[in-house]
Amino acid sequence: MTCKEAALLLTQSIDEPLPRRVALRLRLHLLICRTCATLKKELIALSEAAALLAAQDPSELQAIGAPGLDPQIAEALKKRIRDEEGKNSL
Ligand SMILES: [Zn+2]
Repeated sequence: MTCKEAALLLTQSIDEPLPRRVALRLRLHLLICRTCATLKKELIALSEAAALLAAQDPSELQAIGAPGLDPQIAEALKKRIRDEEGKNSL
């Protein structure tokens, strides 16, 4: 598994549980890859922040079409993943 795949799976796993085999492969990658392990921690923190925001004003998030995830946070996540990809390709 590449870091790109891992980052994608990490963001997916926030929205929905991963299939067991995929989750296992991801965990294996996180064991050997510090970058993705850190990313996971940050994603969890961000998703908790998103949940807090959604709890404050869920109607606004749904109006934008991103229930449960603030668009700004979604953008931050994408940017973060792009940054990590850039680093890893060096
Ligand atoms: Zn990685």
